[in-house]
Amino acid sequence: MAKKQFQSESKRLLDLMINSIYTNKDIFLRELISNSSDALDKLYYRSLTDKKIKVKKENLEINLSFDKDSRTFIIEDNGCGMTKEELEDNLGTIAKSGSLSFKENMSKDEKIDIIGQFGVGFYSAFMVSDKISVLSRSVDSNEAYLWESEGVDGYTIKKSEKEDHGTKITLHIKENNDEFQFDKYLDEYEIKQLVKKYSDYISFPIKMECIHHELKDKEKHEYEDIKEIETLNSMVPIWKKAKSDVKDEDYENFYMDKFSDYDKPLKVIQSSVEGMTSYKSLLFIPSHAPYDYYTQEYEKGLALYSNGVLIMDKCSDLLPDYFSFVKGIVDSEDLSLNISRELLQESQSLKLIAKNIESKIRKELEKMLKDDRDKYISFFKTFGVQLKYGVYNNFGQDKDKLKDLVMFYSSKHERLITLSEYVAEMKEDQEAIYYASGASITKIHSLPQVEQVRDKDYDILYLTDYVDEFCITALQEYEKKKFINVSDNNLDLESEEEKEEIKKTNEDYQDLLKDMKEAIGEDISEVKFSNKLKTHPVCLTTKGDVSIEMQKVFDAMPNEMGIKAEKILEINEKHAISDKLKKLYKKDKDEFNKYTKILYSEARMIAGLPIDDPTEISKLICEVLAK
Ligand code: ADP
Repeated sequence: MAKKQFQSESKRLLDLMINSIYTNKDIFLRELISNSSDALDKLYYRSLTDKKIKVKKENLEINLSFDKDSRTFIIEDNGCGMTKEELEDNLGTIAKSGSLSFKENMSKDEKIDIIGQFGVGFYSAFMVSDKISVLSRSVDSNEAYLWESEGVDGYTIKKSEKEDHGTKITLHIKENNDEFQFDKYLDEYEIKQLVKKYSDYISFPIKMECIHHELKDKEKHEYEDIKEIETLNSMVPIWKKAKSDVKDEDYENFYMDKFSDYDKPLKVIQSSVEGMTSYKSLLFIPSHAPYDYYTQEYEKGLALYSNGVLIMDKCSDLLPDYFSFVKGIVDSEDLSLNISRELLQESQSLKLIAKNIESKIRKELEKMLKDDRDKYISFFKTFGVQLKYGVYNNFGQDKDKLKDLVMFYSSKHERLITLSEYVAEMKEDQEAIYYASGASITKIHSLPQVEQVRDKDYDILYLTDYVDEFCITALQEYEKKKFINVSDNNLDLESEEEKEEIKKTNEDYQDLLKDMKEAIGEDISEVKFSNKLKTHPVCLTTKGDVSIEMQKVFDAMPNEMGIKAEKILEINEKHAISDKLKKLYKKDKDEFNKYTKILYSEARMIAGLPIDDPTEISKLICEVLAK
C-alpha cells in the first residue's frame, strides 16, 4: 500500500519531535491522555443532545497497558473516535489552515515557539516511539480504521476491525540509547508516577492492570502475582471541590504532599473566580521558609493547570518576587494546554490571573494582620524581609501595595508595629517618623542619638534588618510624615535658643574644630560641638542619603562600590570632655591630637564601625591613662 505523505509543515514538526527538541519526553503521556479525555468529553457532550448516542458517564474511561517483550505501550479510550477522514485530517496535518511555515533559518527557540502555538500534541509520541498505530472507530460509523506511521516517511491508513467506538493508540517504544532509557515507559511504577504527576486530575478514570505480589505461603516465603485493575488518578482535584466539602486537614495534607513540606501551611487561600478570566486557585503560605528560600537556587512559582491538566510545575509569572514564598496551584480553562512558555508570558489571561492573585494574597495578609496578629507576626518574622525587599525593589514601584504590610520594632511598645500604628500615636508636636538602626535592639537602644528623641517621648522604630533602611528610604514618607534617622545630623529637635547658642559655640571654636578634623583625616567631613547629647560624650551622625548602617551593607557587598556615609563627629558641649579639649588646645597640641583620635574611635565603636588601627588607639588610651 502506498504511503501517504505528511503535509510538509507537519513533516518538519515531526522531524523536530523525532529529534526531540523538547527535552521533557515524559509529556507525551500527558498529551495523549489529554486527547483521550477530550474525546470522552466530546462523546459525553454529544450524548446529552443526540438520543442515538447512548453512553453512561461512569463507563467512560482511559486504559493504559504495556508489554515489555514487544516494547509496546497502549493507551485506549472509549470516546468519540475518528472516521477515516478525521484520521487523515487530524493526524496527517497539524495546521489545517496551512498557515504554519517553518523557515529554514529559524532558531531552535523560534521553532519551539511555533510548535507551542499549535501544540506538541499527538506528535510528541514520536519522541518516545519509532512506530505508532492508531486504531479508531468513530461513534458515527460502523467502520474502524488503522493509521500507522514510522515517522517522517509518511503514514498509511487501512480498514480494520474494532468492536466499540473509541481510539486505541499503540506506541512502539524506542530502544534505550546512550542518552535516554526509554524502558522507563515500560515500567509500571514509572507510568504510575507520570500519571500522578501530570494527569492526576483528569476527570475520567485512567486505569491500568497492575501486579501485586501477595504472600501465598508464609512458611515457604512463596509469593503470588495478583493482577488487578487500578485507577491511577484521583480524578477530582481538591481545588475544584467546594470549600465546604473539604476539611482543613485535606488542604493541609494536599499541601504537605504536593509541596513536600513536613509542616502544615500557615495559611490556606482558596478562591474561585469567574469573569473576564475564570480560574480556581489554591494557595498556601508556608509556616517556615524552605531551606533554600534565601538562596539563588530557590525558584518561585505556582503550578499551572489548564482544566485539570498540568501545563507547568512552577509558573513564575504568577507571583511577584515579594510573594515568592507562596506555594500553590492555579487552574484555568482559559489557557491552552499546549501553550509554550514564551507565549504564555504574553497571554492576557495569565496576566490578569497574576494580577488577581497578587491582590488576593495581599488582602489575605492584611486581613490576617487585622484579625490574627500573632499569626501575622509569625508570618512576618519568617517572610517579612521579602516584603521589605519588595518595597524598595524595582525603584519602589510596589511600595504602596506593601507599605501597610511591613512592621518594625517600636521602642515604646517593645514589639513590632505597623507604620499606621506609629503615625496614629504620634505626639502633637511631632513632625516626623523617627528611626534608628543598628545590629541589635540593645545596641540601638544605647545609641547616644536615641536619647534626645526618647526624652521628647517620641516613639522610635529600631531597625535591625539590613534591608530595613533601604525600605524606609524607598518609602520616603508615610501619610505625609517624613522618616528621619535619629543619627541624621539635622534632627532639628532643639529650641531656637539652643540652636543659636550652639551655633555661637561652634563659631567661637572654629579653629579647634578644624584642627580636630585634620587630626582625624579624610574619613570625616565635619567635627562640631552639639547640645543634642544628654549624658554621652560623643557620637557620629551623617549628612545626606547614606547612613552608617547603609554604608555597612554596601561595604559587605562583593563588588564594593565605595559608597560612603558622610560622617560628622559630634561632641557633647555640656560634657566635661569639651572643657578638657578647649584647655588642651591652648596648652598641649600633641595631647589634644591624641584625645581627638581616641574620641573619634569611641564614636566609631558606638556606631559599630571598625577602628582602622586598634593597636595605636589602645596605646594612646594607655598613654593618657598613665598620666
Ligand atoms: P490538539 O489535541 O491540540 O488538537 P493533537 O495533535 O494532539 O492536537 O490532536 C489532533 C486532533 O486529533 C485532535 O484535535 C482530535 O480531534 C484528534 N484526536 C487525537 N487523539 C484523539 C483521540 N484519542 N480520540 C479522538 N480524537 C483524537
